[in-house]
Amino acid sequence: MALYREQGIVLRTYKLGETDRIVNLLTQGRGKVRAVAKGVRRPGSKFGGRLEPFSHVDLQLYEGRNLDMISQAELITPFDGVRDDFALSACGSAMVEGADRVAQEDERSNALVLLLLDGLRALSGHPQHPSSVLDAYLLRLASVAGYHPYLEACASCGDPGPHTVFHLAAGGVLCGACAPAGSHGLDPQVIALMGRLARGDLRRISTVDDEPRVRRAAGTLVNSFLTYHLGKPLRAWDLVPR
Ligand SMILES: [Zn+2]
Repeated sequence: MALYREQGIVLRTYKLGETDRIVNLLTQGRGKVRAVAKGVRRPGSKFGGRLEPFSHVDLQLYEGRNLDMISQAELITPFDGVRDDFALSACGSAMVEGADRVAQEDERSNALVLLLLDGLRALSGHPQHPSSVLDAYLLRLASVAGYHPYLEACASCGDPGPHTVFHLAAGGVLCGACAPAGSHGLDPQVIALMGRLARGDLRRISTVDDEPRVRRAAGTLVNSFLTYHLGKPLRAWDLVPR
């Protein structure tokens, strides 16, 4: 059996048998990896506590016929502050679920790993509105998945904005000439907030000056955009306090 080393983020875990766990990981070199951690649910297991969702870990694994086997796990960052807080953990769960949806097996996924680490780091800074950090993360996730949202220039003809008609199938905003007849424009503040969420450092996202209704409307639009392009809604999204 070939032995390999990978750094990755624990996406989720499942019980297996009496004492084992299946761990789904997002790794840089091999994309999504499903691996067995033997004996980790026994009291006193040497690395059971290191394989919790959100943990960034350094692993040694054996290649198996079906599932790989984890033989060593060292914590790089536990992100336990995210796991232990209801709102942060709801946002973190939606982040890992989104990454899980976009990632492939046996495919390098540097951009996705870096994005997820950025998202979890931003949450661990206890932002005032964690749901806005999630929305900003999800807009970037859409870009990584190949559905970059057009939020300024018209998605169809490139006419510089601002535009207020948002069209899911077109991939963003449309100008008056390209928008289908009878389209309703959105509140310009919502589109402007989406533009701000899509830019810059996730750790500096601040929506303290935005009205709650504008924040919520932007969140709903981000969710619709992702659901449209990824095929189905993220289950964890409904648990996020807004
Ligand atoms: Zn246009």
